[in-house]
Order: sequence, then C-alpha cells, then structure tokens
Amino acid sequence: MDISQIINELGEDRELYFNAVSPPIMQTSNFSFKKVADLRKAFEDEMGGYLYSRGLNPTVDILRKKLAALDAAEDCLVFNNGAAAIFAGILSHVKSGDHIVSVRNPYTWVQRMFDNILPRFGVQTTYVDGREAENYFRATNPHTSFYYLESPNSWDFALQDIEKVAAYARQHGIITLIDNSYCTPLYQQPLKMGIDMAMQTATKYISGHSDTLGGVLCGSHARMKKIFDSEYLNIGSGIQPFNAWLLIRGLRTLPARLERIGKTTRQVVAFLKKHPGVEKVIYPFDEDFDQYELAKKQMKGAPGLFTFVLRTRKMEDIVRCCESLQHIMMAVSWGGHESLVIPRCAGINPADFDPGNVEHRYIRLYTGLEEADYLIRDLDQALGVIK
Ligand SMILES: *Cc1c(COP(=O)(O)O)cnc(C)c1O
Repeated sequence: MDISQIINELGEDRELYFNAVSPPIMQTSNFSFKKVADLRKAFEDEMGGYLYSRGLNPTVDILRKKLAALDAAEDCLVFNNGAAAIFAGILSHVKSGDHIVSVRNPYTWVQRMFDNILPRFGVQTTYVDGREAENYFRATNPHTSFYYLESPNSWDFALQDIEKVAAYARQHGIITLIDNSYCTPLYQQPLKMGIDMAMQTATKYISGHSDTLGGVLCGSHARMKKIFDSEYLNIGSGIQPFNAWLLIRGLRTLPARLERIGKTTRQVVAFLKKHPGVEKVIYPFDEDFDQYELAKKQMKGAPGLFTFVLRTRKMEDIVRCCESLQHIMMAVSWGGHESLVIPRCAGINPADFDPGNVEHRYIRLYTGLEEADYLIRDLDQALGVIK
C-alpha cells in the first residue's frame, strides 16, 4: 500500500463518524454490551473487540493499523512511551535462566533494565560491539534466547548488519527486537530484513511536535497477541486515546517533515565539517562515516540526529559553546519541530571527564524544522565563543 494511503486513509471509517476528516477521540474507559454471550466472548478474547480501554480502543486502533502497515507488519501495539514498548517486548520473551545478547550502549533505560531489573529474575545480558555481526554469534551460548539491536545508535550511530544478525538468530531459534527510532519505518523496515519485533519511540518523529509520548512495537499477529494478553494488559502501559490522536495527527506530516529535516541536516553537517573549530562529525549518511556503505545499503535515508566533536580538550569549552546557543535549545529528546543540543558531559561527573575519551566530548545535535541558515548562524556564533 502507498505510504500516502496508509497515512491518510487506512483504518479510518469516516462514515461512522459523520464523515469528519479528523477522527474522534474515543475518550471512554469501557464499552457496553446487550448480550451476555457477547460479553463472554470479549472476556475470552479481549483482542477480538472493545471491552475496556486498558486493552483496545477505537482511536488507538486507527493508529495501530497505520503503524503496522508502515512497518510492513501483521500487527502493532502502541504503548504510552517507547521504554514501555521495549520492556513489554523483552519481558514477554525471556524467562529465568535465559541469556540476552545486546548491542553495546543501548538506550539508557534499556541498559538499566538489562543491568538492574532482569538480573533479579535470573536473566543475564552480554553487551557486544554490534558493528561486527560475528560479535553477536560469539557471545551466544546455549541459554541465549534473545538478541537486542539498536541501529543506528542515537549517539555514535553505530550500525548492525540487520539481515546478517537476523538470519543467524532465526537459524538458532533466537528472538530479535530492534530499536528503529532513528530511522522510523519510512527509512528502515527491519521486519523485512528478518527481525521479529521492530520498536520505535513515537515520542520523537511520529509525534513530531514535542507534545506527547508514545511507543510502537510491531511484529506478527501471534506475537503481538501474546504480548497483549499478558504484559500489555497486566502492566497497563497502553497509550491513552488523546495521545493516540496526537500521534495520528503527527503521522499526517511525517514524510514531509523527515524530508525537510534531512535536507537541513545535510546543510548543517556540511557547515560543521568545514568549520576549523570542529574536529569530527558523525552522521550515518556522511561519506566519511565509517559504516557509510552499510548505512546506504539498509537505510533509505537519515533524518536529523548527529554528533560532533569540538577541536578542544576542555570541558569548559564544550559547556561554553552549548550555553552560547541563542536559538538551539538544550534538552533531551529529539524528533520535534525545534532543534536541540545535548553535550555528553552533562551525563558525566566533572571529576570523571576524560578528554582522551572522545565519547566524553560528544555533542549531539538534532536539527528540527527551522531554516538551515538560521541554525548555521546560531552554531557559527556559538563556535566563535571558544577561540
Ligand atoms: C527516546 C528513546 C527511547 C525511549 O522512548 P520514550 O518514548 O522516551 O520512552 C528509546 N530509544 C531511543 C533511541 C530513544 O531516543
């Protein structure tokens, strides 16, 4: 199906609601029944109809259908945020004694789940440098039941060869889940490459306006039902109708926003690469990126997130540069209309700052929907502060 049809039509029964172009927000907790037999059927299979909004809700369903189609998936569950989607996807597929192989430096709260929560239930995790698929295979032992991927990573943009890792996992009965937040399904479709579950945080590009959170998990219908009947209903981390409605609205403009953001980002990257105050720029679609060929092979595009390193060893310079920005805000998250910066050193105790470790000097930039010149002028004056 065409992306335009998915975004504008799929899942929308406009005749049911007065031919309104924008769907209603079904702000209801429960649904009524006329027949005991129908109620019994709903109890038996809550995913088969509407019973209670901790499970299915019609507004959320419109979003589910669109997101599943964008990922070329049979089905999709939408959570209250991305962290919840990952938690449910993993929890549903591991048991005590299992072993997980994960890419190194996954999203913060994923790492905390692997390090702090899962070990309490007898599940251990080994981290690997995912740039070599063989590292996954070498770390695999007879208890390994799950591979976790994030490609590209959202700080250093390290990629995994998705097809290669997925094929090995399939052969060995290992379940795979990828965090596809950087690309969105518009720029990368991991299920088509053999991955079992594709996750993305809808908080970022799907919302696009920094006004709601959401998380998406896509896969086979059987797998989504398994999660729905257990973790989804039990933890109660499904998205609320109003937030689902905001995400439907965000989806309408997703292709246009990604295109615009990608174009601006290429201009900003080109500016920074030429600037004498900048040592290095890390962006997957930059030809100097060390996995550029793989990026071109498995990604259709790269939107607005990248990292740069200043030609300085002093933390004060990094701090001064970030604090000198007049328009680009300093904040976590990305994917909205507004450009954002975040220095890695903000997450490091100043006593532990190691200028020899280039990762400590990372500054992550997200380019939003502003004019490229406006952002470049802001960066230029901020870089000028640290001569
Ligand atoms: C933000 C983010 C998440 C978590 O999503 P939330 O909606 O904030 O819970 C997961 N992965 C990546 C790469 C992210 O940037």
